[in-house]
Amino acid sequence: MTEPLVDTLTEVAIASLNHFAYCPHRCWRMFCAGEFVDNAYTIEGTTLHDRVHTLGEGFRDETWQVRSIWLKSERYGLVGKADLVESQAGEIYPVEYKRGRRNPWDNDALQVCAQGLCLEEMTGSSIAKGYVYSLQSHQRQEILFDETLRRKTVEILEAVRQMLQTGEMPPAVYEKRCRGCSLYDGCLPQAVAKVARYREA
Ligand code: SF4
Repeated sequence: MTEPLVDTLTEVAIASLNHFAYCPHRCWRMFCAGEFVDNAYTIEGTTLHDRVHTLGEGFRDETWQVRSIWLKSERYGLVGKADLVESQAGEIYPVEYKRGRRNPWDNDALQVCAQGLCLEEMTGSSIAKGYVYSLQSHQRQEILFDETLRRKTVEILEAVRQMLQTGEMPPAVYEKRCRGCSLYDGCLPQAVAKVARYREA
């Protein structure tokens, strides 16, 4: 049996790494407070994902494909689903479907890398890369699982685990990302900052 690398008593959802990298406060609201609100972006994303997941499993040309597969790592204490796992010429890799293009937070790359860590443990093979597929552009972006990305993925994983264990709420900080966030109305980061400034004055 593989020895755990980290304190894995608290299992971490693979998707939570994506949300934490985007905004730690959003991750806390979703995975500690159990809050989720849809907006136009999330509804479109869910609809597109549902369409992908109805396509089934099997071979496409020379590529074996399995959709919506559960992944798990005892070593890292990770669990979650991959949209698609493919195997081609002996190489296995995960593919994550996203609504739009790559954003500056690299949160999708972290999610795919976490899927790769699970696949490595489940298959006993080294997984060198994965892909993020944009449902808008129909383009695949290759994500190399280099040392830097692997280290960052484990760092974010540990930060999420600590948040889950302590329940401590990261602050809501207003940034550009807030404009597309479905939790904005319940979070009101600008108003929170204004109140904090008023108190300090
Ligand atoms: S509105 Fe901004 S600060 Fe609040 S959860 Fe969303 S991204 Fe985070």
